[in-house]
Amino acid sequence: MGIVKQGESRLRRLMGRMSTGPVLSEQVEAVRRRLDEHVSMYLLPISGFLFLFFSLLVPAHLAVLPPSPERDVIVACALLSAVLLGALTLTLRRVRVPSQWAHLLAFGAIMIPLANSLLHMGLTGDAIHTTNIMLVILATGAIVLRLKWLVLTQAMAVGGWAVVALLAVDNGGDWFHFGFGVFLSLLVAGVVYRMHVASLVGLEHLNLELDDLAHLDGLTGIANRRAFDQRLAREWDRHVEEKTPLAVVACDLDLFKLLNDTRGHGAGDVALRQVAGVLRASARSEDDLPARVGGEEFALLLPRTTGEQAMLVAERIRDGVARLNIPNPDTPPPSTLTVSLGVADAVPRLGDRPSSLMSAADQALYQAKAQGRNRSVRSGAKS
Ligand code: GH3
Ligand code: MG
Ligand code: MG
Repeated sequence: MGIVKQGESRLRRLMGRMSTGPVLSEQVEAVRRRLDEHVSMYLLPISGFLFLFFSLLVPAHLAVLPPSPERDVIVACALLSAVLLGALTLTLRRVRVPSQWAHLLAFGAIMIPLANSLLHMGLTGDAIHTTNIMLVILATGAIVLRLKWLVLTQAMAVGGWAVVALLAVDNGGDWFHFGFGVFLSLLVAGVVYRMHVASLVGLEHLNLELDDLAHLDGLTGIANRRAFDQRLAREWDRHVEEKTPLAVVACDLDLFKLLNDTRGHGAGDVALRQVAGVLRASARSEDDLPARVGGEEFALLLPRTTGEQAMLVAERIRDGVARLNIPNPDTPPPSTLTVSLGVADAVPRLGDRPSSLMSAADQALYQAKAQGRNRSVRSGAKS
């Protein structure tokens, strides 16, 4: 179960690092559910396959032995359990089973044939078949643990079987059983290996999804602070080489606390999503990165953009938010939600830090607030 453990611990690490907003925790929950389904998905077919295979193997084998009341009872029991388990497996294919149940089923799939084999040995004294079956079962048990153990136990199964078959070599037909044992071991190994690969591919998809989760803001679905900072650092280095201007627009909603106080936190969340939509719409290309960098604070990163161009984008955002016409009752008329913006730009030089651009934008934003809000101020401009 190494795969699932990996996924789960990654999920826990991420959860520790992220601030879990309402939507984000739903997403995390959904990923956790998918992990569970993932386990059930490959453990159930393995269990079903093993149940059926061993339940049918016993009667198939006993049928060639001389008739006896014990033999008939075992054959009848095994056939009956094969039919019941076959039906159960088919039903489970459509049922979502919690991973604990899937594990239990896999465990049962190993223990029941093991008990069958011991019964078989007790009744017939036929140790050679039993050894083979038990070794294959051992190998199959290993799949539930780890692939390297599977390989080891498969090798032991084949080797052990070879020794037993060679010891009983004067007993004519044992080469057939030897071949059969090797075939069976390889078959189980092959099936399990394929399932393991399928799980790895599944885990890779899951990892990509978790990466996305770690870089997106849970409430609004746009980039979060971490994604913004990483991208700013990358663009900064690129612009040092290109010697082109890089601009950033810092946005802070005006008197947003009042909106929460008068209309409730839910209405506040809806407003934040709408504002994120305006930022997204204001991006001019894939290169521009809108992000939610704090509670009611947003930022837009504008590569290869001058201060003048960035001011136009800032005004477009301000206009977009005003046009949303979101009521903010306790604020001066027209009592709708507005935004203040600070714009900064620079041609980055080697040795300068990207945080200097953000501080300049924040200072400009501070001025916009001080000058009465609902406006854009460019860093370095006279107030
Ligand atoms: P200013 O114009 O000076 O920026 O005033 P303000 O009220 O917007 O600023 P302040 O920092 O006093 O309040 C920010 C508010 O943003 C407080 C908090 O309730 C709200 N807020 C922060 N994050 C969230 C969120 O995720 N959802 C909601 N609904 N509100 C949030
Ligand atoms: Mg604020
Ligand atoms: Mg504010």
